[in-house]
Amino acid sequence: MKIICIGRNYAAHIEELANERPDEPVVFIKPDSAVLPKEQDFYIPEFSNEIHYEVEVLVKIKKVGKHIDKKFAHTYYDEVSLGIDFTARDLQSKLKEKGLPWEKAKGFDGAAVIGKWLAKSNFKDLNNLNFYLLKNDVEVQKGNTSLMLWKVDELISYVSSFFMLKKGDIIFTGTPAGVGKIEVNDYLSGMLEEYELFALKIK
Ligand code: ZN
Repeated sequence: MKIICIGRNYAAHIEELANERPDEPVVFIKPDSAVLPKEQDFYIPEFSNEIHYEVEVLVKIKKVGKHIDKKFAHTYYDEVSLGIDFTARDLQSKLKEKGLPWEKAKGFDGAAVIGKWLAKSNFKDLNNLNFYLLKNDVEVQKGNTSLMLWKVDELISYVSSFFMLKKGDIIFTGTPAGVGKIEVNDYLSGMLEEYELFALKIK
């Protein structure tokens, strides 16, 4: 199983990090070892003093495909969720400056929080989903999938022209504005519409 992440998919988040707006989706991969095991706390790793949360809508691929046409992309997933793309921002900034790959800043152990999966049939329109991240019960990030620069079906089509998608692969579709730092003892929870899909403690 692989985790495919999309960067810079919401205009307001591109602005907050003073990044350039991309012409094509920004894509990176997290290894399967990055998945935070269910019900486990997240431990801030020693190599970073600035771990950021990034709440993102997830889709789970249900069958093998490559070079998937956008109009068939919807047949490749039935389930959606919400997760966190934990990022060691201090390390990422250093790597970006030098033009080096981001993997260490994005793919470390526990860096992928994956919430409970819901059938997409629970929702009328996947391109109009509200989602939220709460830190210590205060809303810190709020997004709506209508604000994605590239929508889920476009992302699947694009990504599958480079990487064969396999059953069980997960796509992190990018974070809206409001990313920020976590501290020990913080409590994070994520809501997709009215469903709470994950909750975890920071240690
Ligand atoms: Zn992200």
